[in-house]
Amino acid sequence: MTRQYRPFTVRGDGLNDNAARHYEFSVLGMLHSFDAMQTTRALMKGFRATGRDVLVVPYDFSRGECNASSRSEWGLFPNKVYYSPDIYYPGGDCIDPGDAGNSAHEVLCHELVHALRRGRKPGRSTPKRVKRRRSRS
Ligand SMILES: [Zn+2]
Repeated sequence: MTRQYRPFTVRGDGLNDNAARHYEFSVLGMLHSFDAMQTTRALMKGFRATGRDVLVVPYDFSRGECNASSRSEWGLFPNKVYYSPDIYYPGGDCIDPGDAGNSAHEVLCHELVHALRRGRKPGRSTPKRVKRRRSRS
């Protein structure tokens, strides 16, 4: 199955039906919450401004046990995020107690920042407003 939350497509590739549904709804819930929170709303607006579609699929463990990754790849989805919320649970091996930034939400937010930076259109590396401000000083 595939779930859409523009510009994100969430697909539980490689998971059985129940696990895929659980995966897709977990990630969709997080994406919805990113739109609802002021600190992550800018990130979501950034994705919509680039106009590029992003595919979120389960993490493939290509970069170690406790990780996630975002990549630019050719194909229908030039922005791909490999991420699994279920490996980041309190008391699990991927969370150091007391450390910030390793909850499931925080890891997804982190990867989306990478994906947004990778997904910017060529020649638009710096927003125009910032360029103007810089040229005045
Ligand atoms: Zn990183």
